[in-house]
Amino acid sequence: MDPLVVVGAGQAGYWAARTLKQECAAQVVLIGEECHEPYERPPLSKSVLAGTAGPDAARLKWPGGTLHEEIDFVSSTQVIRLERSEKRIVLSDGRILPYGKLLLATGGRARRLGVPGGNHERVHYLRSMDDAVRLKAGLESATSVLVLGGGWIGLEVAATARAMGKRVVVWEAAALPCGRVLAPSAAKKLVELHRAKGVVLQFGCQAACVTDGLNGGVVVRSDSGQALEVDLVVAGIGMVANDELAFDAGIACDNGILVDAAARTSVPDIFAAGDVAKQVIYRDGPAARLESWLNAQEQGIAAARSMLGIDVEYRPLPWFWSDQFDVNLQLVGRVDGINQSSLYWQFDENELMQLQFDPVGRLVGAIAFNRGRDLRAVRKALERGFEIDRSRFDDSSMDLSDQLNRAIDATQHGKEMT
Ligand SMILES: Cc1cc2nc3c(=O)[nH]c(=O)nc-3n(C[C@H](O)[C@H](O)[C@H](O)COP(=O)(O)OP(=O)(O)OC[C@H]3O[C@@H](n4cnc5c(N)ncnc54)[C@H](O)[C@@H]3O)c2cc1C
Repeated sequence: MDPLVVVGAGQAGYWAARTLKQECAAQVVLIGEECHEPYERPPLSKSVLAGTAGPDAARLKWPGGTLHEEIDFVSSTQVIRLERSEKRIVLSDGRILPYGKLLLATGGRARRLGVPGGNHERVHYLRSMDDAVRLKAGLESATSVLVLGGGWIGLEVAATARAMGKRVVVWEAAALPCGRVLAPSAAKKLVELHRAKGVVLQFGCQAACVTDGLNGGVVVRSDSGQALEVDLVVAGIGMVANDELAFDAGIACDNGILVDAAARTSVPDIFAAGDVAKQVIYRDGPAARLESWLNAQEQGIAAARSMLGIDVEYRPLPWFWSDQFDVNLQLVGRVDGINQSSLYWQFDENELMQLQFDPVGRLVGAIAFNRGRDLRAVRKALERGFEIDRSRFDDSSMDLSDQLNRAIDATQHGKEMT
């Protein structure tokens, strides 16, 4: 029997390989182009960058043994071609490998700064462990940092660098940070948090070119003519899906590999999961790629089970967290603010909870700053498909946790009665 092959040894690939190994006796091959064993990326912009944890802390450990004993793990090797009619893949070292079922878990890469001087050696990116190690070394000798992009990676790097005592400026092209996914009111809270900690945030501002500075640094000019000399630049301007392997093999792609709820691509026996996969998400929303740690794990597991012929119906409820300064931020469901109304509770400076409702008043998501317990309650309710009405939250004199529990109980009861 031809092996079950997983391409991409990141979060999704690791969980898929682990599930395959646990659930069947077939040969499992996991191929990754990085020289490392699979690891988690969230610590790269947090503890690994800050130096409070070493690279090994991010490694995904194999239960009860080593990866190499349990599966065929091939590192430092890229899959360069997929020959779907022959059901085989071609590796960068010239080997050709047949597959029975194939999972593409190739994730993404950092979008490069496409301006003159954008490849300057002082311009850093942060996607991989090697990027993090290099950036950390650069940060140690830097006193000033310009972060390009006010998305999650940009803001986390800004927070980590600022906590290390660096002068930090962030340029963001849009009017607010994290604009694609975060309601404006919550995005404004993030701005306040960063400004209170001394980060300089400038909006409507993007890099136009990068040149050597006169004082040993690097000068970045903005599209409005502003020039800033800093020791180091970090471009956090988004991710590009690694879908070329699939696209070149004729698999349906559209800024990501299109998959159904069983992680199947448009080609039989080929599956996709994680950051590279695009599917319909929560409540029949539009197809999207979910760039999140939990989705990579859960979709990797779902894809593995689907590869084994098990019926799978994976409809992810988006959940994401970020750590910035002393705030643990969590998002669940739909929280982009588009066609949504919100209710929010501010408990203290860094503690808030915001509920998002769709146009008919149904709870569709929540944003929590240091309110993990409340967020978990909402997450549970949304996972169970409860339709909680905004009117259930009118009693502002009541504790939010009580209100949430009461609303969930009432909705659950209503569901059970019908
Ligand atoms: C710095 C950083 C911080 C993050 N923080 C958070 C967070 O706080 N919360 C959260 O929810 N999410 C966070 N994320 C997102 C989360 O880490 C990703 O969603 C997750 O890693 C996606 O996993 P993946 O396996 O799909 O892709 P990846 O992790 O990108 O793994 C794909 C792997 O495939 C390899 N590969 C690609 N093409 C080939 C090929 N042709 N042949 C062989 N190998 C190949 C790549 O090199 C890579 O190792 C963060 C991401 C980054 C980069």
